[in-house]
Amino acid sequence: MVTIFRTAEDMASAMVRWAKENKTTGFVPTMGALHEGHISLVQASLKENDITVLSVFVNPTQFNDASDLEKYPRNLEKDLALLKNLGEIAVFAPEIQEIYPQGTELQQPADLGFLEKTMEGKHRPGHFQGVVQVVNRLLNIVPASKLYMGQKDFQQFTIIRFMLTVWNSPTQLVVCPVIREESGLAMSSRNERLSGEARKNAGEIFRVLQWIRSRIHQNSPENLLLEAWKMLEAQSLSPEYLEIVDCTTLQPVNPIEEGSCAVVCIAVWVEGVRLIDNVVLSGKLLPA
Ligand code: AMP
Repeated sequence: MVTIFRTAEDMASAMVRWAKENKTTGFVPTMGALHEGHISLVQASLKENDITVLSVFVNPTQFNDASDLEKYPRNLEKDLALLKNLGEIAVFAPEIQEIYPQGTELQQPADLGFLEKTMEGKHRPGHFQGVVQVVNRLLNIVPASKLYMGQKDFQQFTIIRFMLTVWNSPTQLVVCPVIREESGLAMSSRNERLSGEARKNAGEIFRVLQWIRSRIHQNSPENLLLEAWKMLEAQSLSPEYLEIVDCTTLQPVNPIEEGSCAVVCIAVWVEGVRLIDNVVLSGKLLPA
């Protein structure tokens, strides 16, 4: 059954009620326009908790590009239809003032250090401050036992893992694998803005990341990244960054040390749409 909550007060009271009834809760924050990637997080939560809370909130403070915010797809009816019959789901779909009653101005920036100076953070200034701000606010309203996030947004997951320790949060972070389209392209609400041909061709991004993984023990990261960049450009894909980084510090790694966790991360522009992806090259992503 799907129950919809529109206000922070109603949502928070339901959380208190479930806690009193000793029900475990899993939380899946999203910006809506749900696809199978989001549903995989919901499925993981349904398996491990009595109640799953999914939020649908297009967070204005994490968009550094006004037109990206404006173009972001919104369709709550369609989202609710996708969640029907999956299990006990609470959908939290608030208006902006429910999340930011004092306005969207950032009161106290989080000290994210290098974590927000690289890759996504470098190219989208202020983005992760907005993400941290909204997750903080959402977790105050939905203090769930477990928080489900996708590996698709690797840097986001890494930063939230860091912030949960800073906040001393009892919420346990669970990371779920990237769900892909048939072509290999990581599912994303933004894929809908691509032409059919570009969408298929963008499968090349994942193939190139896998190509790097298959050669990482025989070649230097530097050479592989250079070659991979050329391969992408040859397929009319325009990389914005392509880096091999440590899974926790996000510092570039060269070479990859035995037993360490390293991941290759990419952002690519296709037909004016910005796509991101990543593949773990060695080690294992650790939850909080
Ligand atoms: P978004 O609605 O894009 O903010 O995403 C909400 C959550 O779904 C985030 O934790 C994302 O990492 C996760 N997610 C988005 N796309 C995928 C995907 N293709 N596979 C797995 N998780 C995903």
